[in-house]
Amino acid sequence: MKYVIFIPDGASDYPVEELDGKTPLMVANTPNIDKLAKEGFGGFTNNVPDAYTPGSDVANMSIFGYNPADYYTGRGPLEAGSEGIPTTPTDVIFRCNTIFSEDDSMDDFNAGHISTEEAAELMEGLNEFFTSKYPDFKGKFYSGVSYRHLFIYSCDSIEDAEVLSSIKTLPPHDIVGEKLADNLFGDCELAQEIQQIMFESREYLESHEINKKREIPANMVWLWGQGVTPSLPNFKETYGITASVITGVDLLKGIGNFAGMNIVNVPGATGYFDTDYKQKGEYGIEALKETDLLLIHIEAPDEAGHAQNTEEKVKAIERIDEFIVGPIVESLKDEDFRAAILPDHPTPISVGTHTRDDVPLVIYDSNLDGDECESFDEEGVKKGSLETKPGHFLIQRLISGEF
Ligand SMILES: [Zn+2]
Repeated sequence: MKYVIFIPDGASDYPVEELDGKTPLMVANTPNIDKLAKEGFGGFTNNVPDAYTPGSDVANMSIFGYNPADYYTGRGPLEAGSEGIPTTPTDVIFRCNTIFSEDDSMDDFNAGHISTEEAAELMEGLNEFFTSKYPDFKGKFYSGVSYRHLFIYSCDSIEDAEVLSSIKTLPPHDIVGEKLADNLFGDCELAQEIQQIMFESREYLESHEINKKREIPANMVWLWGQGVTPSLPNFKETYGITASVITGVDLLKGIGNFAGMNIVNVPGATGYFDTDYKQKGEYGIEALKETDLLLIHIEAPDEAGHAQNTEEKVKAIERIDEFIVGPIVESLKDEDFRAAILPDHPTPISVGTHTRDDVPLVIYDSNLDGDECESFDEEGVKKGSLETKPGHFLIQRLISGEF
């Protein structure tokens, strides 16, 4: 038995005025997805537990078979996981933005989209600066892409790591224009220490040669999104099958890595819109020859939702149907297989960001006749028979055949 889960990120929506009150999933021309829906089972699911904001990392952790309430520890650790940075249980991993701050405000959360090369030099310099100033400095900066980096702070104990993980930090993109002093982390000793590192980074960065040349200097770092490395039980040991992941999003690669899944990197992600989808589909077919389950995630509908671009959202869904769902399902025609298609969360055009509503779900079994579900969209799945269960049950539902 083969299994495939298609995840069109943010694809579900609210009725859109320019689509005469329909949604992008309703109007998109998707013959391959329609077939799965007509011959499969429909319903809703929800991938975001109540206590969490509907981020793609949380929502996809559910789809990957892990309850975020038990396993989610933050974005920083997932990024570290995607880059294969080794950590210990007392390490707290922060996201680290290079920012521009004038007059103690968050003026630019990405320092004018600083280049990867420039930022790498600054991160390396920060490590030298802090370790020469404090020989027993407990932190280390790891450079990433453009303004997105990591900072790992090694605590003295598991207890300290728990305290530091639980401190509320704020994403820099959410506090643009605000005073930094109004957005600090609190008074405990560890929080103070992290804040001091952020403000001391200025001593080094302000006068750096790179920043003298930059119109928008990266004159400070902002640390946030921290947590300890999640201890995800191995996927194969948990579910008894092997899994591959295809995604362009680092956070999701991180989840896959921690779960011991096979991460398939698809080249040409920077190519044309169409070739990117096509490549993903082709790599998906190959991955399914090697593993039992393929999780294939496509970011584009979410991006179109954030951009509030209806036309692009419809197009993205149609391309997923043509280049990913169609070819992969065709490649399985001589096999017993079960497929599911669902977004991680909605990204409605009218809202421009994620919401926590239930998402439509279709499950298809090549050996079963389906229910009354007509189509994979917010209305069509209502005729289906699937019970609404939290998203982290999906893998178990697929494997057991008890949908
Ligand atoms: Zn998402």
